[in-house]
Amino acid sequence: MFTAPAYLSPSSIGTFRDCPMKFKFSRIDRLSEPPTWAIHVGTFVHEVLEHFYQLDAHERTLDSVKALATERWKAGDWETQVDSLIKPEGTIVDFKRQAFDCMKNLWKVEDPQSTELVGMEHEVDTDIDGVRMKGFIDRFTFDDEGQVIISDYKTGNIPNPRFKSEDDKFFQLTAYALMMQEADQETTSKLQLLYLKHGQKHEMTLTPVKLNIARGVIVETKEMVDASCESGEFACNVTKLCDWCFFKPQCPAHA
Ligand code: SF4
Repeated sequence: MFTAPAYLSPSSIGTFRDCPMKFKFSRIDRLSEPPTWAIHVGTFVHEVLEHFYQLDAHERTLDSVKALATERWKAGDWETQVDSLIKPEGTIVDFKRQAFDCMKNLWKVEDPQSTELVGMEHEVDTDIDGVRMKGFIDRFTFDDEGQVIISDYKTGNIPNPRFKSEDDKFFQLTAYALMMQEADQETTSKLQLLYLKHGQKHEMTLTPVKLNIARGVIVETKEMVDASCESGEFACNVTKLCDWCFFKPQCPAHA
């Protein structure tokens, strides 16, 4: 018998639904995964763009994103962080190029000078039908009708539609929209995934039906987490993705 985590997040729900055993390793046993190249690229790009959008609109140029990247690189001692990676996927120059390509592609997905963000790294802590949910929303703004548009930077590849449906791809943002509705009484009209590596913006109009589906997924997942904690049984979902799972060496499915 295990104690269930005090709260869930949209990403931990995704982890449980992908593989309950992986959820156990990370959320119950609290085994931490060392950062990867991809996670570092994502974190660095997020950090620079968060500072970039704090500049006045007319200052948001390619030169200023370059200057901010240099500043944040030093402030966060990113050279040491990248050098310490267990599995580097290239040199420091490769890392900088990859991150900067993502930043440059921001201009392909929106006009930074006419995009005003209302919230960045916005914390939401709320209750969805008795399930405590916590997490951070990358960024949001308001549309002309005063409704929220939630967006998320992605620095990895666009998921293959054969393996991930449109609703699955937007599940985390839909869950955040529901959390914002409960916590801040704000209605969300649209969700955006900004695939910076490819310079593409994927959008989804939010409907009450989609919100209700997300509500059902949250409640159902919490019930499954509680049942697994009670029985001590966490299923292993063995797929090709196991080869990328940090916990594979200690996973019973691969013993
Ligand atoms: S190796 Fe595969 S089955 Fe095992 S925890 Fe990781 S994802 Fe799950």
